[in-house]
Amino acid sequence: MEALESLFARALKLEAPWKITKIAFYEDEGAIKVFADFPRGSTFCCPVCGKDAKAYDTTEKEWRHLNFFQYACYLAVRVPRIDCPDHGVLQIDVPWARDGADFTFLFESFDRTLVREMPVNKVSQIIHVDDNKLWRMMHHCTEAARQEEDYSSLTTIGVDETAKARGYDYVSLFVDLVEKRTLFVAEGKGAETIKAFTEDFREHHGNPHDSTDVAIDMSPAFIKGVEENLSHAAITFDKYHIMKIIHTAVDEVRKAEGKQQDLLRGQKYIFWKNRQNLTEAQRTRLASLESMPRLNLKTVRAYHIRENFQGGGYEKSSPFMFLDVTTCRIKG
Ligand SMILES: [Zn+2]
Repeated sequence: MEALESLFARALKLEAPWKITKIAFYEDEGAIKVFADFPRGSTFCCPVCGKDAKAYDTTEKEWRHLNFFQYACYLAVRVPRIDCPDHGVLQIDVPWARDGADFTFLFESFDRTLVREMPVNKVSQIIHVDDNKLWRMMHHCTEAARQEEDYSSLTTIGVDETAKARGYDYVSLFVDLVEKRTLFVAEGKGAETIKAFTEDFREHHGNPHDSTDVAIDMSPAFIKGVEENLSHAAITFDKYHIMKIIHTAVDEVRKAEGKQQDLLRGQKYIFWKNRQNLTEAQRTRLASLESMPRLNLKTVRAYHIRENFQGGGYEKSSPFMFLDVTTCRIKG
């Protein structure tokens, strides 16, 4: 049995004073539990100053570790608090897991690899871990990674809002358009979200006055927010939102003109689509409407304005359409 315990100690990378005292197999649950403890009189580092101190008291703790073959593995340990002469009674840092974690470092890193590839609830089913614990870990890791972020060289920012659920509650996303990374996500879609972002920007060594360009949709709230908080930045409206407005305008012209002009009845799909997407019959129909100069149809003229604006190659496929910042500078 001694050999098996030292094998597990090596696999778990447990070092003195920690020793494996027992290994229990739970055949029905498909689990192994490895118990570890330390000899009486062992000393541990104070988590604040690093000075050695003896155990003051202990609590039983358990962490999920990487599977051993098909068995879910748990590490169960009596973890001491020490009494440091300078810092008082404190829980020690264990070398295999971060403070407050449900999983060992190795199991966390395995989970994170899975979460990158699939949704959390799927991971939860595969590794048999409560998804709340997974979310707790993800929140911790995201926060820890965000603390490290440095926005000191950030100059070009894109903002867009999206609905959290269909038709309800908006969140605003802030992205770095040069490095193509997400910077900040805030509830709402008003001027106050820009203010909240600016505060976060400062907390990450950024200077809002250094931002030279901000791409937003045409919402007055965003414009106000940028003018108040990122006042040195030129505003660029993203093409996707402008296209939506022009599309609606063409449609309104068609509806109004269609009331007097029978030739336009039943032709709405022609004016909704881009020319290259029309069917053969629609293309012929459009060509015939365009070739009647006497009619001088407003709808046709509006459609041509839209085409001119589109220039070439406008595609609606990407949700990050605001990466296209080539249009409509209004300031700066
Ligand atoms: Zn101390």
